Amino acid sequence: MLKYNLEVCNSIGSDYMLNEITYKKMTEAAIIPDISGFIADLNNLDKNSKISALAFEIREYNNINLRFGYEFGTELLVELVKSVMEIAKEYGSFYRVERTVYAILFKKEASETELLELNSKIFNRLSNFSFSGYTFNIEIFSGAINELKYTSDPYKILATLTTAVDKSKRNESFALTIFTEEKYNEDIKRVKLLETIKNSIVKECEGFYLVYQPFVSAMNGKVIGAEALIRWKNAEYGTVSPGLFISYIEDHSVFYDLGLWTLKRALTDFKDVLKIKSDFFININLSYSQLEKEKFKYDVINIANEVGFPLKNIQLELTERCKNLNISYLQKEIEFFRNNGIRVALDDFGTGTSTLRLIGDLPIDCVKIDQSFIINILKNPSNEIIVETILDCAKRLGISVCLEGVENEEIKSFISKYYANYHQGFYYSRPVEIEEFKNKLELRWITQGIKLIKSENKSTFEVNNIISMMPGGFFIYMNDHTERIILANEALLDIYECNNIDEFMKLTNQQFKGMVHPDDYERVDLEIKQQI
Ligand code: C2E
Ligand code: MG
Ligand code: MG
Repeated sequence: MLKYNLEVCNSIGSDYMLNEITYKKMTEAAIIPDISGFIADLNNLDKNSKISALAFEIREYNNINLRFGYEFGTELLVELVKSVMEIAKEYGSFYRVERTVYAILFKKEASETELLELNSKIFNRLSNFSFSGYTFNIEIFSGAINELKYTSDPYKILATLTTAVDKSKRNESFALTIFTEEKYNEDIKRVKLLETIKNSIVKECEGFYLVYQPFVSAMNGKVIGAEALIRWKNAEYGTVSPGLFISYIEDHSVFYDLGLWTLKRALTDFKDVLKIKSDFFININLSYSQLEKEKFKYDVINIANEVGFPLKNIQLELTERCKNLNISYLQKEIEFFRNNGIRVALDDFGTGTSTLRLIGDLPIDCVKIDQSFIINILKNPSNEIIVETILDCAKRLGISVCLEGVENEEIKSFISKYYANYHQGFYYSRPVEIEEFKNKLELRWITQGIKLIKSENKSTFEVNNIISMMPGGFFIYMNDHTERIILANEALLDIYECNNIDEFMKLTNQQFKGMVHPDDYERVDLEIKQQI
């Protein structure tokens, strides 16, 4: 026992070690053939046949080892295998493929119903398994291949089968994922795409860019922040959405660099916006794989400092899968961010296996109710109940709420009865690139104007240059040339949410010389030259 423990510590992982021991025990007992048996049997199949097989992976078996010890874990696993074998023999042959992955190769081509039937028999058997005076709820992720043409490479068949299992595992779905010939081909394509994407990350994030979607105040529809959403573009594949690659690559080591790249890019893009809208915040999506690295939090702070972006203007969005991290670790990391002024939101709330408990357990600032509830709120009355429950719960806990998926006017008017804090959705804007975002916010002319004034040789400075970039309105010029705002128009009042110049002066704590008409270039020019 002690020896095993030492071996485990020095080896590549407890799960691996345990199964090597278990496997030995199983093969000694001659109860189950291994991967080479599976390959040999595939090779013996009729070359014209279509192949059906089912595989499953036991979920977090190592927890049993931790709780009961390796020896017990081994004994239990042997019993589980024997039990599944009993069920499987009616359908085909049973194999241990790798670690805690097992497969059944059907004697002949199976129907989808047979695959589902076998899967539910195994699932039910393991979900209530008695051994040594205990009852265990062993969960499995399963996948199957159906009607797959025989190929000369049995390893390809095996890879397809395990990929189907991986798909269920990645989606945390206990439903059976079935790969047919068509899905197999799609999968090959996807693997190629993911390889190209991963290579692009290594090449300094080549082809990646960000788009931004406004975060809107539910009270008055004003844009108060932006969410950064990643895209990848390549000559062969065109523009690829994150839904097609994030979940596949987020646990690969290269993904970490992409996360940091995204953070730096977004903060750099919005840094100048803070000069005129100091409470504007930028939302960054996180994957669990970033958060699980202890150094991530320091990297966030270092990047923000490097860019010169205040931490209070950052909100991190934890995606649904982050909750799979140990809850006390998650609490600790969130607290670290919040102690440093960074806000934390829980994204896609209500999807997957989120529970209301989570918003009570995590010290978050904001919960974003998943768009699927809002998009279908008019068609599906039960969504209303769910949204109201989350809103009520968050309100009582002092957590703000964002409703995602406000797609159109109809939804917008329907949901306006809720006391949500923020809205997000196509009704306000689709995600757009930075220039368009700033244009929409009417921020670009101001930020460009500021840059222009800074870079302009003061002696040749012409106000026309700035005015020509600005929409019509009146202009205000200030006494204090050290101030950032040298020239402004109505749009700036709007951004500052002021109804008139008096309010604006009060808010900015400044005196303005007065208003001039945009046609009055010469006078403005003269004044500004004197000011700067
Ligand atoms: P999310 O964070 O929940 O982002 C919202 C998604 O909903 C975006 O999809 C956005 O385009 C879409 N959306 C917004 N409003 C509406 C609407 O009214 N109707 C509909 N049908 N859709 C709307 P997108 O950009 O494809 O992103 C998908 C997911 O990918 C994101 O979901 C997020 O989880 C993930 N993601 C995106 N960028 C990053 C990133 O930089 N890092 C990480 N870790 N994940 C990211
Ligand atoms: Mg998000
Ligand atoms: Mg979301």
